[in-house]
Amino acid sequence: MPGDGDQADSGARAELVVIGGGPGGYPAAFDAADRGMDVTLVNDEAIPGGVCLHRGCIPSKALLHVAALLGEAHEATQWGITFAQPKVELDKLRSFKESVVKKLTGGVGELCKARGVKLVQARARFLDSTTLELKKPDGSTQKLAFGKAIVATGSSPIIPPIFAIKDPRVMDSTCALDLPDVPGKLLVVGGGYIGLEMGSVYAALGSKVTVVEMTAGLLPGADRDLVRPLKTRLDRLFAAILLNTKVTKLTATKEGIVAELEGEGVEPKQTFDRVLVSVGRRPNSRDLGLENTRAEVDQKGFIKVDPQRRTADPNILAIGDVAGEPMLAHKATREAHVAIEALAGEPAAFDNLAIPAVVFTDPEIAWCGLTETEAKNTNREVKIARFPWGASGRAVTISRTEGLTKILFDPETERVLGVGIVGAGAGELIAEATLAVETACVARDVAETIHAHPTLSETIMEAAETAFGQATHIYRAKRAESRS
Ligand code: FAD
Repeated sequence: MPGDGDQADSGARAELVVIGGGPGGYPAAFDAADRGMDVTLVNDEAIPGGVCLHRGCIPSKALLHVAALLGEAHEATQWGITFAQPKVELDKLRSFKESVVKKLTGGVGELCKARGVKLVQARARFLDSTTLELKKPDGSTQKLAFGKAIVATGSSPIIPPIFAIKDPRVMDSTCALDLPDVPGKLLVVGGGYIGLEMGSVYAALGSKVTVVEMTAGLLPGADRDLVRPLKTRLDRLFAAILLNTKVTKLTATKEGIVAELEGEGVEPKQTFDRVLVSVGRRPNSRDLGLENTRAEVDQKGFIKVDPQRRTADPNILAIGDVAGEPMLAHKATREAHVAIEALAGEPAAFDNLAIPAVVFTDPEIAWCGLTETEAKNTNREVKIARFPWGASGRAVTISRTEGLTKILFDPETERVLGVGIVGAGAGELIAEATLAVETACVARDVAETIHAHPTLSETIMEAAETAFGQATHIYRAKRAESRS
């Protein structure tokens, strides 16, 4: 369906134009169309879906599903079930991943048609505050006048100059998701969530993975007690995790990519078959012609927005990765609805208290609202209730007792301020916690809500119970600690 629905003519006008067809842009276009607005969605790729569907959340999770299966099959030996050594058919695995992407992106295309959203494949650039120049794939250009524009152009991987050695064995996340092969030795530069997720996939497929992280710990920003059980497991899965270590140079040789490393006790030159550079992403705000409008960008390149997602230009709004951290699909989608509600004249604001963050490794890590690290850094007094999964019946049945659920409460009101979880399925469990933070639940609400048994969700209820020193499955539980 490439090019299908290209319906903007020269001299065309749109009441609303949305630039970018990712999880920010397409929900904005759909919401606006559902409200009867005349909407044009301009996307530089033929099929909408953005990074999330084409080369981010969705393909990575399809591969992580396979990695988890391989891990479980391996562990089943302890439970008396031994499978034969897995045979990895890379072509089939790639097809599976691509079929998942195709199914979902195809669905977005169908929903565009059904809602009457005009889809235009072009690269958009502002000529002024009411006109865009659209550059089509054949190089031709046309102008599109608009009433309002929403910029949802997303972000791109950062490749620092020392890594830009123009060798196909040095990959960004997009290339790594293409699964060119299963390298014998893979270097992952950056211990953030993308590096750890992709490293887990390749390690499960058979690569010896070395992760190099510049700071003192994996997943900077996540609470250390949540990272610890993951680190323990990754220490077994990966060949090496080198913390406080820097990659200073990459050189392409016939034998592989030689990485020069700087870190205490670290072998200074190591050769790898492939390198994945996952050191961060930058907003796609360049080359958009924003200088021809009144919209402003900050030092990091994020477009500055107010709580309604309006920029300094009264005709232009911005949402998603291009409009600020955290760069997550669900944050982009929420902003899309806020922006459309604001355009519709409703009293909308992006004032969510909790944006869940999930690291889809094994175990998963998830958190929302206030973190313990933030509480510490801002000297905010909180009450913290922890429930270790060793006391969870469900965790025992699945042999995953390394997990932890913790809840941060306001010491005066006992309102739930934040939740952190590490353990199998933490990414699903965080939904309840997010609702608790967002709807201002207090500890008693969570503790007195009946949770199905035996489920891991009981760990949230029992963590809340420990706030009163009375969790059923923790003997002589102490009162939750109070810290200022
Ligand atoms: P994007 O999804 O980046 O979409 C922007 C679109 O705009 C793109 O299609 C782009 O080509 C197009 N575009 C750019 N400039 C122009 C222009 N001038 N004219 C026309 N079109 C243009 N997030 C999660 O929440 N959960 C996850 O598990 C997760 N996993 C990830 C895994 C990986 C490997 C990566 C790379 C990212 C992951 N993310 C995840 C992040 C997530 O993909 C982004 O936060 C999300 O896609 C941002 O949505 P967006 O709509 O702002 O932009």
